[in-house]
Amino acid sequence: MQPREPMQMMELELDEPAFGEVRVKMVATGVCHSCLHAADGSHTGIPMPIVLGDEGSGIVESVGEGCKNLKPGDHVIISWAPDCGACKYCALGFPSLCLNTPPIGKMSGGGTRFHYQGADVNHYGPATYGPYIIVPEAAAVWVRPDFPLELAALIGCSVTTGFGSVVNSAGLRAGQSVAIFGCGGVGLNAIQGAVATGGYPIIGIDVVDSKLALAREFGATHTINPIQQDLDGEIRRLTGQGVDASIIAVGSTLAMQQGVEVLAKQGVAVVLGLPGTGQTFPVDPALLMSGERRIVGSRYGSSNPMVEFPKMVELAMAGKLRIEELVTKRYDLDEADEAFRALAAGEQARGLIVF
Ligand SMILES: [Zn+2]
Ligand SMILES: [Zn+2]
Repeated sequence: MQPREPMQMMELELDEPAFGEVRVKMVATGVCHSCLHAADGSHTGIPMPIVLGDEGSGIVESVGEGCKNLKPGDHVIISWAPDCGACKYCALGFPSLCLNTPPIGKMSGGGTRFHYQGADVNHYGPATYGPYIIVPEAAAVWVRPDFPLELAALIGCSVTTGFGSVVNSAGLRAGQSVAIFGCGGVGLNAIQGAVATGGYPIIGIDVVDSKLALAREFGATHTINPIQQDLDGEIRRLTGQGVDASIIAVGSTLAMQQGVEVLAKQGVAVVLGLPGTGQTFPVDPALLMSGERRIVGSRYGSSNPMVEFPKMVELAMAGKLRIEELVTKRYDLDEADEAFRALAAGEQARGLIVF
């Protein structure tokens, strides 16, 4: 595919897994904003043609030499941040900050495992829109076989990113207030993280009323539609001094600016959403200095997938994390363009492509 062109269904050749790689038969993949940005051209520098998809689940079909942990038949959740096992950030447990990530589109060591008529076809990270994919073993996280594998797909990106943004990145504590900007697939999971932590009030913010209704279902104690309501005034009314944490789970620079402005002293704004390449937002340094407010970035919810995925699975099994309710609609792979359109139009929490 090329940016701004419809996706194409094509039969690709797929290599055998190389050393340390596994071949996975995909069961489901979520429809994520980062892929939408690659498809609509708002993120530049994405090599084409490319197989998109950064969140999914499946069953290990075969393993390459040197694989230590997985065997054919294992159920796995795909991570887009495999641990290289060698760099400082992987050693610290943050593979999403790995210093040895392969260039975008390629496998580590260069090259691709997808081909079309002999030419390389790029991988968007794990490229989970392929019915069969090849990933490093470290990108396939074992999941207990009694967990619904189709739903496990969402743990691969949106669930872990949203939940972790509150629990890890903001370090929210019980009784602290939090505002979540953007109540889509990631924002709803930030709300779930805030509920699990005991945050109060939990304020969901979105310009789409149906998403605010969802936010309340997922545990937001209050909601604000900034088009119809005075955002700043409402937040002051609910919290007095502003919020202890704001989570910006939408790629809007205006929301990022507002997310900083609504902070109480020592509050932290967590930037999760990614606007188009090159967009920036203004910050008043006095807000930061005088009140010790902080702005932090969060990638993959500052989480280590090997640790966090099983935790998310256990929380879901215990009924403390809702995943089925995140799925607005299920699609076939050849409906991926429609799934993207619905995502861009703000019609869905999460679309799930089922193979
Ligand atoms: Zn994603
Ligand atoms: Zn690394």
